[in-house]
Amino acid sequence: MTTTPLTDLSRCCIHTITTKPWTFREAAENYARAGIPGITVWRDALDGISPKEAKTILDDHGLEVVSYCRGGFFPHVSNADRQAAIDENRRTLEEASALGSPLLVLVCGAVPGQPLTLSREQIRDGIEAVLPQAEACQVGLAIEPIHPMYADVRSAINTLSQANDLAESLDSPWVGVAVDVYHLWWDPDLQREIQRCGKNGKLSAFHVNDWKTPTEDLLLDRGLMGEGCIDIREIRSWVEKAGFNGFIEVEIFSNRYWEMDQPDFLEQIVNSYYKHV
Ligand code: ZN
Repeated sequence: MTTTPLTDLSRCCIHTITTKPWTFREAAENYARAGIPGITVWRDALDGISPKEAKTILDDHGLEVVSYCRGGFFPHVSNADRQAAIDENRRTLEEASALGSPLLVLVCGAVPGQPLTLSREQIRDGIEAVLPQAEACQVGLAIEPIHPMYADVRSAINTLSQANDLAESLDSPWVGVAVDVYHLWWDPDLQREIQRCGKNGKLSAFHVNDWKTPTEDLLLDRGLMGEGCIDIREIRSWVEKAGFNGFIEVEIFSNRYWEMDQPDFLEQIVNSYYKHV
């Protein structure tokens, strides 16, 4: 059984990367004008502005920061590189805090050629090492399981089951999980793992977009909701049944859409949000 369409934009959030051609200020102005209340800020969007200045811009436009993207990338071959990653994550948590973000999304990382099991141990150690900083900054960490096609370089955490296991074993109120339909739609255990995640109070974020057939670029050809084969509304019904009623975050990396007129693209996002989410 699925659920009813959304009738307003009160839970809508857009990731700045979705409208990458816009400057941070342009994104804030345009989202606010379109009646979108939430924004997830990518680090690269802050090019040249401090997190504090960014917060002022968002406050001026009545926008709520949903998440900061992104931390993670803990696994490395050398000790020194692993330590540098931990230090970088600590700095990222400070930025998230200055921005007023309640959450930092983690793309956990992987190293080509290094066993995934070892990368997973390094991920766990890395998250454990930054947990005191997360608590000090009052910023939660959201482990985002990433589609297995990226298991070589982006993340050794590829299913919601793995993310749930990791979040549970870390046993901290500052660690949760981000569910992104692009990464997880194919998983036969998805409904059950979403329930598990919600039951444990670990469901921190919900990202939407679509999987195109064919996908022409592994990274930069995500679809707009309704353009691909993901039953987003059904997954939303599972997420809500698991107790999640937070922001629904539109996260699309797409060369095609970045080439478009961005105000037109934003209009398409809003239409497809109503129609397919
Ligand atoms: Zn995502």
